Amino acid sequence: MSEPSPITRAVRAGIDSDLTHGAVVPPIYLSTTFTFEEFGVPREFDYARRGNPTRSALAAAVAALEGAAGAVITASGMGAITTVLAALLQPGQVLVAPHDCYGGSWRLFDALARKGHFELVLADLTDPEVAEQAIREHGPTVLWVETPSNPLLRISDVSALAALGHAVGATVVVDNTFCTPLGQRPLELGADLVVHSATKYLAGHSDVVSGAVVCSTEAQAEDLAWWANCLGVTGGAFDCYLALRGLRSLHARMAVHESNAAQIVTLLTDHPAVTAVHHASLASHPGHELAARQQRLFGGIVTFELGGGLPAAQACMDGLRLFCPAESLGGTESLVSHPATMTHAAMPPQVQAAAGITPGMLRLSVGIEDAADLVADLAAGLQRAAQVGNGS
Ligand SMILES: *Cc1c(COP(=O)(O)O)cnc(C)c1O
Repeated sequence: MSEPSPITRAVRAGIDSDLTHGAVVPPIYLSTTFTFEEFGVPREFDYARRGNPTRSALAAAVAALEGAAGAVITASGMGAITTVLAALLQPGQVLVAPHDCYGGSWRLFDALARKGHFELVLADLTDPEVAEQAIREHGPTVLWVETPSNPLLRISDVSALAALGHAVGATVVVDNTFCTPLGQRPLELGADLVVHSATKYLAGHSDVVSGAVVCSTEAQAEDLAWWANCLGVTGGAFDCYLALRGLRSLHARMAVHESNAAQIVTLLTDHPAVTAVHHASLASHPGHELAARQQRLFGGIVTFELGGGLPAAQACMDGLRLFCPAESLGGTESLVSHPATMTHAAMPPQVQAAAGITPGMLRLSVGIEDAADLVADLAAGLQRAAQVGNGS
C-alpha cells in the first residue's frame, strides 16, 4: 500500500498504537516525568514540558497536513508566535508585518519592539508595491504574512512575498489560522514557517486554546522545539488530546464550513440591506483571482456591511438565534461579531476607518449547522436591519 494521504494520517494519528491494552484511541499521558530505561539510558520522553506522547501525536498530524518536516505544539497561538519571535529575532533586527494583522499579534510585536527586542515595520502587504518597498528598504530578518486578513479578508500573495523576503535573507512566516492547511499550504508556496492558532479551526470545537509552529526543515523544528521548551510554552497533554480529537475531523468540518459559507454569501449579495460583502469567493473581491490560485478553499469567515450603520448592525445581531454574539472563530457553532465594538474596539474610530472597519460591519464565523437554518436566521436579522435602515 502507498503512503497514506495527509488527511488519512491526521484522522489516524496515534490510533491503535497502545501496545499495553490495545486501546484504539491513544490515551492522554498526564505523567510529568518518565523513567530511564536503565542507568544513563533515557527513553524518547523524559520531562513533559520538553516532550509528551500526546503532544507528539498532535504535532505529527499537524505536520502531515501542512506537508512539513515537523511541528511544535504550544499552549496557544500566541505561544507559537512568541516562540518564533524569540528564536529568530534580536535587537537591531527588523520584523516586517502586515498593518492589519491579528490584534494579539500586533500587541505582542509592538510591546516587544518598544522594549528593544527588535524593530517593527508595519506595511500593507496586500499591496505588491508597498510590500516590495518595505522589504527592500528595511531588509527584515523576519517577514510576517497573514492571509486572509481579519475582518476584511484581504489576500496577500504568499509566493511573491516569500520570493521578496528570501531575496533579502528573511525567514518568511505565514499565520495560516484562517485557511487551515486544507485551504492553503504556505510551505508549498515558499514560506519557511507556518503558525496556527489551533484554538480556531484545527481543534474546531471552541473548547481548547492551542497553537502550533510548523517547520519546513528538521533543523528548524528542532530549534523551535528547543525554544518552546526553554520558554515553557509547550502545549498541555489534555489540551493536545482535545486538539487532536478535533483535528481528526478537520477535512469533514471544512467542507461544511465552506458550503454553508457559500449559501450565506449568496443570501448577503442579493440583499438590499447589505452594501458590501467581503469573501474571496466573490469575483468582485479584490483578492479573488489570487485566492483562487493560492487557496483550495475560500473559507468559512464572511464579513458584510449594512447600509443602516451601527443601528442596523445592532438590530441584525440582536435576536439572531443560531449565530452567537462572540469573538473567536472556527468552531462547529456559528458566531457573529461586531468588529468596531468587539475585536477591534481598541482602535480609535479614525484608525478603524483607515483599516476599512465601519460601524455597520459584522463578521460571521459560519458553523456546520444545517445551512437552511443558518440562512433563515440571518435572513430574519437582515430584515430587522432593513427596518432600522428605513427608519420604520
Ligand atoms: C486567534 C488568533 C491568534 C492567536 O491565537 P490564540 O490561540 O488565541 O493565542 C493568532 N492569529 C490569528 C489569525 C488568530 O485568529
